[in-house]
Amino acid sequence: MRKALFIDRDGTLNVDVNYAHKVEDCHLLEEWIWEVLQKCRDAGYLLIVTTNQAGIDKWYYTEEDFWKFHAELERQLGMQFDKVYFCPYHPDISGEHSWRKPNNGMILQANTDFDIDLSASYMIGDNLKDIEAWNKSQCKTILINKQNNLDVTDSHVVPEYVVMSWQEIEKIILHT
Ligand SMILES: [Mg+2]
Repeated sequence: MRKALFIDRDGTLNVDVNYAHKVEDCHLLEEWIWEVLQKCRDAGYLLIVTTNQAGIDKWYYTEEDFWKFHAELERQLGMQFDKVYFCPYHPDISGEHSWRKPNNGMILQANTDFDIDLSASYMIGDNLKDIEAWNKSQCKTILINKQNNLDVTDSHVVPEYVVMSWQEIEKIILHT
């Protein structure tokens, strides 16, 4: 069994600009993210992106735009992810979909594809939908609260860790 990092995209890897899809809008949240990811990969973690992309359903952009943005993200990071799962559906247009966070269909698919030890894996996201999805899957959860600055004190969804930077994420994953 492998262990994995399930990583949200917008607001976690890149700055969220609301339906980010233009290559020129791709800006890393922090410049050293690649170093943290590389260290985690060296420690045996698969690097898996899991992202809601309902802008595709809304015709704000196409799947091709999504992949161009992803290629730019990987170019800036100087590395490639092991897998990308994205959910293009919006409930108002295509109805509920098991892959759309806070549902956990993407993680179940990843588990089928890679045989992942979920209890040894982490989910990293900037939104409580991310945390909720992965709480259903017994992963450890890290909320990066840098861009949204969410108040999680009276939320019914409780992340195990709340951090403000990828350096803190590195400490949690590699040194706890
Ligand atoms: Mg996000």
